[in-house]
Amino acid sequence: MTLRDHLFDALRTDPVTAPLWNAGFRVRIGASACLAGEKVRPDGSDCRSNAVSVVLPLVAEVVSLCPEVAIGLGVPRPAMQRVRLAAGHEAVRSVEAHATDITARLDGFATDVVRSRIFHGYVFKARSASCAPGNAPLFDEHGVQIGLAGGRYAEHLRRAFPRAPMCDEEALVTMGSLARFVMACYRYAASLPAEGIEPPTH
Ligand code: SF4
Repeated sequence: MTLRDHLFDALRTDPVTAPLWNAGFRVRIGASACLAGEKVRPDGSDCRSNAVSVVLPLVAEVVSLCPEVAIGLGVPRPAMQRVRLAAGHEAVRSVEAHATDITARLDGFATDVVRSRIFHGYVFKARSASCAPGNAPLFDEHGVQIGLAGGRYAEHLRRAFPRAPMCDEEALVTMGSLARFVMACYRYAASLPAEGIEPPTH
């Protein structure tokens, strides 16, 4: 049985997901655009994920977004990093000379996204200063890594949809993990009000 057939069969027969799936409802899963194969990374490359670009579109509406491009940064552009400032605040700034600070623009874009869309799951790019679900390197102002943090954009999505399944592409490399993620997204949608929509929590 192919993964596609396995997913279709599971969604069709699971008592929780079947009412949604058989009625034609499809979950909306957000994804970092570079995982969908879009050449939006700072160096103009992508990091296409088979799970995001091939499998998830079979069973879900996949919405791919690159927050850094969406706020007006071009391709190519400077690489970004998460920085903890002396005042205790955290920022997203360009690695080179910290000349570009995109924190406020990322916050504004994320706020617009969560106000305008419902997500039943999200796949983020691992270790990205904007997109990582929790494993972006965090630096002090002198460039010394002091820990890990969520990507600034991803943190907004996590707060807005705290129960929605969210992970990075590295968590979806096996058939089993991918199937569990898909089922979890449908179960999350099934737990919401009848139309599968839950207002953001802020
Ligand atoms: S990780 Fe996020 S910000 Fe970076 S290229 Fe991919 S989608 Fe854009």
